[in-house]
Amino acid sequence: MKVLICGAGIAGLATAYWLHRHGWEPTVVERAPALRDGGYKVDIRGTAVDVVERMGLRDAIRDRATAIRTATQYDERGRAVAVLDAELFGGRHSGDLEIMRGDLTQLLYEQTRHRLEHVFGTHVVAAEQDDAQVRVAFASGEERAFDFVVGADGVHSGARRLCFGDTVPHSLGHHIAIYTVPNHLGLDRQEAVHLAPGRTVNVYSTGGPSAKALFLFAAPESDADPRTFLADSVAGMGWEVPRLIGYAADAPDFYLDTLAQVRLDSWSKGRIALVGDAAFCPSPASGQGTSLALVGAYALAGELAANPAGGFAAYEAQLRDFVVKNQALAAGNLRGMVVGSAFGVWAQTRMMKVLPHLPGHRAIIGRVADTIHEAATSVTLKDY
Ligand SMILES: Cc1cc2nc3c(=O)[nH]c(=O)nc-3n(C[C@H](O)[C@H](O)[C@H](O)COP(=O)(O)OP(=O)(O)OC[C@H]3O[C@@H](n4cnc5c(N)ncnc54)[C@H](O)[C@@H]3O)c2cc1C
Repeated sequence: MKVLICGAGIAGLATAYWLHRHGWEPTVVERAPALRDGGYKVDIRGTAVDVVERMGLRDAIRDRATAIRTATQYDERGRAVAVLDAELFGGRHSGDLEIMRGDLTQLLYEQTRHRLEHVFGTHVVAAEQDDAQVRVAFASGEERAFDFVVGADGVHSGARRLCFGDTVPHSLGHHIAIYTVPNHLGLDRQEAVHLAPGRTVNVYSTGGPSAKALFLFAAPESDADPRTFLADSVAGMGWEVPRLIGYAADAPDFYLDTLAQVRLDSWSKGRIALVGDAAFCPSPASGQGTSLALVGAYALAGELAANPAGGFAAYEAQLRDFVVKNQALAAGNLRGMVVGSAFGVWAQTRMMKVLPHLPGHRAIIGRVADTIHEAATSVTLKDY
């Protein structure tokens, strides 16, 4: 069986891996000219940890884990106002993994690059399907036929448009920007955080010369140039922000997107199915996009290989509740990550300062981790 997978992100590469392991012949097409290995830290939690275990990747991921030690909050003048144990700050449960998105993408690519076809720098522009196959036309002008097509092409999926027309992701009213910056703060497995009303910036490095900067900010949609939009949106912030914004111009991996969720009534149409952010993006605010992509890839490939005729329906039946529970995490997380008012920033800073000294603080913060863990483990993997 030949399957075209659109998108060489986490969902696409993992789906390709599993379909190949089930004896199918996947081809991965990626719109970008090379693997997009940008991004900040991503979490692999709960059932998704079982998936990477079954891929034989758990140890490799642990070896490249961020191993973050502390998160320090700075005020606008650069004074450290609170230091938190990073495991608590990140809401992780024991066994959960955290890795830079780029390292995970590279690891997944290593699993598939010599075993199956990857085509970079093009994308599907038209698809027609009948009972036996899907015929696709690529932007390069080439035409090919496949037994199935999987859209793993992210939150703004072109495959989704081909199936369902224009479905606008549900905006959470915020944006995210991420890019590589020099590690001028000398961070070594430490995260630096600064809050202003409606805007948050985090900088993280595993040590070495570079770091990643992440901005979260409330703003309406804009057609402005992405770097200008970011600079305008965080104008007036103190701490290291002006210097970090100065680095954006030269960052080759500059990434900016809206925080949005994809909520569809169905994840497939005929011989075309969607997986990962294309089907059910929970938004980076949920912290569960990568875990949903990994579990989705495992279930989609397993069900399709077990029963090509009914595989897409079985995949959706198995994961729908799991997806809904994880998408539900985003709104609450976002309220904690981006604080709307000056009073809110003051109160949050105060709380971060005193929390580590309160008796039972681990249990208090642990409640957040428990809520995430419950959602992250709310599905059990089948054996295929
Ligand atoms: C550069 C980048 C950085 C990110 N950083 C973070 C982060 O720091 N934190 C976080 O929580 N989430 C981040 N995300 C989102 C996160 O990767 C996903 O939520 C999650 O891993 C699910 O992945 P996915 O494979 O479904 O989608 P994505 O990771 O978005 O991958 C989709 C892939 O499809 C490609 N593509 C897009 N359109 C087409 C097309 N028409 N045809 C073929 N290919 C196409 C894209 O170039 C991309 O490689 C980032 C995504 C990207 C692309």
